[in-house]
Amino acid sequence: MKIICIGRNYAKHALELNNPVPKTAPVVFMKPPTALLVGNKPLYYPDYTEDLHYECELVLKICKNGKHVRPEFALDYFENISLGIDFTARDLQSKLKAKGHPWEIAKGFDNSAVLGTLVPKTEVANQNNMEFKLLKNGEIVQHGFTKDFIFSITEVICYVSKFFKLHIGDYIYTGTPEGVGPVKIGDKLEGILVTKSGEKRLFETEIK
Ligand code: MG
Repeated sequence: MKIICIGRNYAKHALELNNPVPKTAPVVFMKPPTALLVGNKPLYYPDYTEDLHYECELVLKICKNGKHVRPEFALDYFENISLGIDFTARDLQSKLKAKGHPWEIAKGFDNSAVLGTLVPKTEVANQNNMEFKLLKNGEIVQHGFTKDFIFSITEVICYVSKFFKLHIGDYIYTGTPEGVGPVKIGDKLEGILVTKSGEKRLFETEIK
């Protein structure tokens, strides 16, 4: 299993971190399987960062093996979706970016990929514009709509499958909307997806 992550897939988020908005291809990186944090387990604040940030993202679970996926078949490659957090040690990431180094240790550390309950994509209120929210201590801090993607789900699946064969069970974290920010010990994060039957909480993560 691998965790493929898309960076800067919402223009307003790219701009809030003073990054250029990608035009021709998405930013892609990976997290190892040891990054997964499931079952609403807490995240213990790592000792190698003083600026741990949340990034709430829509997550696709790959249900077919495939390489060089063609656009007309891309949406067949996932049946279930969820929400997750791409936890980022922002201070470490900034240092690595400045040196032009890979940013794995700032993004792929243990438990850095929160994953919520999976939901069939058919249960989402609007598959063409999925809506989700991140609550921090009960207040909305991120509100995402997939119509704001720079690269659509189809484009993401086609692009990443050129480089990395997709396997059943892989996850794709599709990027975060604006509103990222720091967490501190004691904070509680909740991921909410808008489904046909109303708002559904897919994860609840406490920082310890
Ligand atoms: Mg991210």
